[in-house]
Amino acid sequence: MDRILRGVMRYRHTDRKTMVEQFIQVKNNPVPKAVFFTCMDSRMIPTRFTETNVGDMFVVRNAGNLIPHSQHFLDEYTTNEPAALELGCVVNDIRHIIVCGHSDCKAMNLLHKLRDEKFASKDNRRISPLRAWLCTHAQSSLDKFQQLELAGYHTPLIFQSETPMRKFIAYIDPDDRFSIEDKLSQVNCLQQVQNIASYGFLKKRLETHQLHIHALWFDIYSGDIFFFSRQNKRFIEINENTVEKLTDEVNRYYS
Ligand SMILES: [Zn+2]
Repeated sequence: MDRILRGVMRYRHTDRKTMVEQFIQVKNNPVPKAVFFTCMDSRMIPTRFTETNVGDMFVVRNAGNLIPHSQHFLDEYTTNEPAALELGCVVNDIRHIIVCGHSDCKAMNLLHKLRDEKFASKDNRRISPLRAWLCTHAQSSLDKFQQLELAGYHTPLIFQSETPMRKFIAYIDPDDRFSIEDKLSQVNCLQQVQNIASYGFLKKRLETHQLHIHALWFDIYSGDIFFFSRQNKRFIEINENTVEKLTDEVNRYYS
């Protein structure tokens, strides 16, 4: 806490004035670009690695960057994530949703262990909200991952995207660069695209191409960031050689 208080004091003397000016600008002309879902991991600082600023993104963070599927909620029961989708995409009319997973994700490492029935038992879920959260809302990611595992990691997975008619194919880590848990993290990230599209209040926007869902993946070890290219059917590293093509793809498919 000491570090936080000293940090606030440094902020007061450095960034505060500029930020207040930016708050005024944003208030008068709000044009947020994206709703950004990512993991709560302390190494993930999305505004820094996307160089975005005040007013650019609505950021939602939780353990494992999950967006629960709409099937889990009846009547008014809900969690934060669908409410955040409504606040971002309906109330503020944001047109892009980004889900960003990462390597060495503690939630994904735990999810991988939850394949063990004893570890994921009802008694264990009752004493661990984290296990309960993952077992309930990331089971679909685990199921997809098991399909991949059974096929020896080479067969592509099929995900539903914005509408049931629009599916996309994904080869997961075809160069076999990442660990098993990191492959699961990539599958989980893509599974969230499907979960987001399950909400009725987004249906019309998704059907009429006014709202788009993207997936990013951050490699903690190298600092590289990958964009899921539907055209290439895989995560592509964003770098000097790929950025133009990826920008073209985004403009062509998602504008
Ligand atoms: Zn994480």
